[in-house]
Amino acid sequence: MPVYTLPDLPYDYSALAPVISPEIIELHHDKHHAAYVKGANDTLEQLAEARDKETWGSINGLEKSLAFHLSGHILHSIYWQNMTGPKEGGGEPLAQDGVGELADALTESFGSFAGFKAQLTKAAATTQGSGWGVLAYEPLSGRLIVEQVYDHQGNVGQGSVPILVFDAWEHAFYLQYKNQKVDFIDAMWAVVNWQDVAKRYEAAKSRPDALLLAP
Ligand code: MN
Repeated sequence: MPVYTLPDLPYDYSALAPVISPEIIELHHDKHHAAYVKGANDTLEQLAEARDKETWGSINGLEKSLAFHLSGHILHSIYWQNMTGPKEGGGEPLAQDGVGELADALTESFGSFAGFKAQLTKAAATTQGSGWGVLAYEPLSGRLIVEQVYDHQGNVGQGSVPILVFDAWEHAFYLQYKNQKVDFIDAMWAVVNWQDVAKRYEAAKSRPDALLLAP
């Protein structure tokens, strides 16, 4: 039995149009995300084989492969949930929509919603090669931080919990936006599902001792 499985999309391929075309969503989920799931499962099998045979010649490559594919699977699983149709999504998180705690935390951590939005936009849009812009909960200080992730797994602070992720890989936008990555990231804000982000913030905050940093 595979350890990891591809989650279903929470909406139709066309749900995020015109911000993201159905063709992109189908390929991105059914091909790219599926490949990370398979990669993570295959790598676990190869590690089990290495343990059985005590053949450790490929350990560095296998550990790198595990981090890459597993992180890809996790980030994409969050990515789909982080988005909703442009009629329901976008705008700012507001107390009247039941996401006031998230709104307050963003202001506290970044000075203002505008400051947060600018930082995440820049982090995502200026990734060199493949990467992500990520809003994460940092459990040591209880702050929200923005991370610019290389590939799926690099440049990440240990222990941080991603709650809003912008995929800045070319496969996320090239069929529709061509080389205009900045336009894609700007457009992404119209489909952010703040209810989902707020739910993730609450969940991350409720387990501050998960790292056992406090005595
Ligand atoms: Mn992707």
